[in-house]
Order: sequence, then C-alpha cells, then structure tokens
Amino acid sequence: MPAIVLRRVDFGDYDLILTLFTLNKGKISAIAKSAKKSAKRFGGILELFSVIQIVCSPTKDKELMLLQEASLINSFSGIRGDLKKTAYAGYFSEMIIVWSEVGSEQDNIYHLLYYILEQVDKSQIPEEILSIIFQMRFVAIAGISPDLSVCMICRTGIDSIKEDRVTFDFSKGRIICPKCAYASANRLFLSKGTIKRLGWIESGDLSKALKIRFTSLAVKESLDFVESYTTYHLGKELQSLKFLKQIRKKDA
Ligand SMILES: [Zn+2]
Repeated sequence: MPAIVLRRVDFGDYDLILTLFTLNKGKISAIAKSAKKSAKRFGGILELFSVIQIVCSPTKDKELMLLQEASLINSFSGIRGDLKKTAYAGYFSEMIIVWSEVGSEQDNIYHLLYYILEQVDKSQIPEEILSIIFQMRFVAIAGISPDLSVCMICRTGIDSIKEDRVTFDFSKGRIICPKCAYASANRLFLSKGTIKRLGWIESGDLSKALKIRFTSLAVKESLDFVESYTTYHLGKELQSLKFLKQIRKKDA
C-alpha cells in the first residue's frame, strides 16, 4: 500500500522507526530493521515526506508493524533540500500525527497531503498559500470548518456587511459584524477580502484553490487565521509551528 513518511526516528544503532500515513490504513508506526546499518537494505528511500509503496507485517506489539519491503513512488526531493519547504511539510505532518487516530482510514487527508506536498516540491505556488489551503481543507475534512458566511448574531451575510473588517470569535467558530461586536479574548480581525478567499478554498477542486489570487494582506491575515484556528482546536501550539514562526522572523 502507498504511504507517506511523516516522521523517522533512530532506534538503536541499526533500526529506524517510521510514522507513516498510508492510503488504506491511515497513520501507522513501522520498524525498519537494519535501515540505518545498511543503506542497501531499503535503498535509502525511507526519507521524510517521500511516498513509498510498502509491505508490512504485524509484530507482537499491536502499535508497531514490521516493514518488510519498500519501493519509491515519489521522493519529493525538492522539499528536503530547502529549510522553509521542510518546515512547512513538517508542520503538515505534525498536524496529521497529532490529529489522526492510529489505523483508521483517512483517504481524503492522504490525497490532500499528497497533493500539497507535490505542490511544495514543484515550487510554483508560495508555501504560505499552500499552507493556507492545506489547513482550510484539513479542518473541512475533520468536520470543524469555521462559519464565515453570516454574522452569528444578526445573521447579516458577509456580502451585505458594509464595513470592511469583521471579528472572528474562535470559541464560537463564527464571524461577528462590527455592529454586533463585543469584547472577547479569543478573537481576531479579518477583512472581507480574506474571508471570501478562505470561503473559496473550502469549496470546489484543489486545482481551483491554487488559482485564487492572494494580496499580501490576504496572505498574512489568512495564515494568522488558519494557524490560530488549528492551534485553538488542538489546544496547544505544535512544535513545528513554533519552528515555522522562528524561520519567518528571520526572513522578515
Ligand atoms: Zn451582526
């Protein structure tokens, strides 16, 4: 079955333990015996973010599979040679590791991750925009999409709200127009242009989402929004997101 390498950890002197996101069984852990000792054993293909075809067998430990064979489907080598791309791919991987249950099939998320990693590897679309798309689609698949269509209090539609900036309340997962706005600790301001773009990403093909044009304000607001939104729902900030923010600071 096809699998994407989400994490690899050394185990003793010879072995590797991999966290794999598979097409049919979702997230699994597998031990690759002698993968460190001999490059020949798996041909050096067990790299982060690589897509591989695997054959596994069960071990005595229910949580751990034994990797028998692996062959390369796509190495996405453009990601690993680039710090920023690696940081983004690491963030997507950690979201899946933290969010998904072991062994449960999640084909939609597999296809989403594959598609976005392919785009990160290709370098045609900025990583920031790919990250916005990944996170918006991820929360949609997880069934926790934000409601960005109407003011939660007066029910005015986003297109009919006159002011350009509205409040998003994280604890409610919904927007509030300026007339109804109240003080809240868990909130963020978003311009209407940003909200529309986020709405477009949610519906339709991924290839359509890639064509949406983002102003620099919309990129900044959208990134702030999706990262705060996923962090709010996870209940903690992921290590990979902290790392990503450090890299951004250095770039700025
Ligand atoms: Zn209102």
